[in-house]
Amino acid sequence: MALIVHKYGGTSMGSTERIRNVAKRVAKWARAGHQMVVVPSAMSGETNRLLGLAKELAPAKSNEATNRELDMLAATGEQASSALLAIALQAEGMASVSYAGWQVPIKTNSAYTKARIESIDDQRVRADLAQGKVVIVTGFQGIDEQGHITTLGRGGSDTSAVAVAAAMKADECLIYTDVDGVYTTDPRVVPEARRLHTVSFEEMLEMASMGSKVLQIRSVEFAGKYKVPLRVLSSFTPWDIDINEEAKSGTLITFEEDEKMEQAIVSGIAFNRDEAKISVVGVPDKPGIAYQILGAVADANIEVDMIIQNISKDGKTDFSFTVNRNDYARAMDLLKDKVVPALGAQEVLGDTKICKVSIVGIGMRSHVGIASKMFRSLSEEGINIQMISTSEIKTSVVIDEKYMELAVRALHKAFDLDQPAA
Ligand code: ASP
Ligand code: MG
Repeated sequence: MALIVHKYGGTSMGSTERIRNVAKRVAKWARAGHQMVVVPSAMSGETNRLLGLAKELAPAKSNEATNRELDMLAATGEQASSALLAIALQAEGMASVSYAGWQVPIKTNSAYTKARIESIDDQRVRADLAQGKVVIVTGFQGIDEQGHITTLGRGGSDTSAVAVAAAMKADECLIYTDVDGVYTTDPRVVPEARRLHTVSFEEMLEMASMGSKVLQIRSVEFAGKYKVPLRVLSSFTPWDIDINEEAKSGTLITFEEDEKMEQAIVSGIAFNRDEAKISVVGVPDKPGIAYQILGAVADANIEVDMIIQNISKDGKTDFSFTVNRNDYARAMDLLKDKVVPALGAQEVLGDTKICKVSIVGIGMRSHVGIASKMFRSLSEEGINIQMISTSEIKTSVVIDEKYMELAVRALHKAFDLDQPAA
């Protein structure tokens, strides 16, 4: 008998029909002898609907008081879906009880709309499990020190599930979703993309942070920190498929480099179009310029991703970096109005039509020539590389966004990702 956490996304909870299927699937697992904790998202579209209502009433307001109410509001979505699932389970003849985050309690800090989980008290849940009940815990929400309801940010139910699994020391956390696992790249861009049977936690982290939106990034960080065995799998298989087959399906996120696991050097190609490039041109090359430019950007709460400083010529240098596109206009204004005049730089240039493409794989640690292979295949496609950054298990390039799909396809092929692993 194992303690298992299931998480169901909004699509899986999207109608009473689907909720009934979830209940049947969960009942199957419980009847196989497992202790079951289930963490559902709100029914699909519900969080958007609720937040949309708020927006009608207060279009641009973002302040502490309003954010508190947004959490109060959005948390109801998961409360409803959790109760519905408990009702469906009871209708299946399974004893079941649902709890909102505050009832468990799941304690968080007070950062409304993006709170972080601080602790989970597992006593109440354990007592119900001991009585043979299936326990449903709302995703996405918790309670802060003062008793205010908080939410964990969009997609936060993944993090709830992993945190509950960590607190309960669950044997496995299964994330049921509308895709059947983690792929070598987005199958909409490369039809030959393959599902990975396993992916290491570090690789998953790199992919999740680069636009592969299967899991909320924080849930992956959490899983890594507490070594929660995590699996991503489809909720669209028939609920009555063989449980052993189901237990092996999808993608397992692993923590060790197991010999028998897929040994590709590059495991996946990630990409995103969320960034914009900014160059400060003709900056006097003296100590402190990086700080003066990026310090001002950081003070405005704008996150910077890639950074490049050129060698200087005639005492001047160029300094380029990328920011999220949402912050682009603000960053440009700040640089033009304050930083450039203060530094005596020549000008600021910006480009929003870029994208970032990355190859990711833990095998890159122990192999040389991987980056050069990447650059070669891009050059064979005539794609110009504007920026490069590397880490132990990733190499990223910034290129013109119009070549994004071409680049992803070329790299997917160059690294043999369309071939089944040996
Ligand atoms: N319902 C929340 C959202 O849509 C949380 C989640 O689904 O994970 O963001
Ligand atoms: Mg999600």
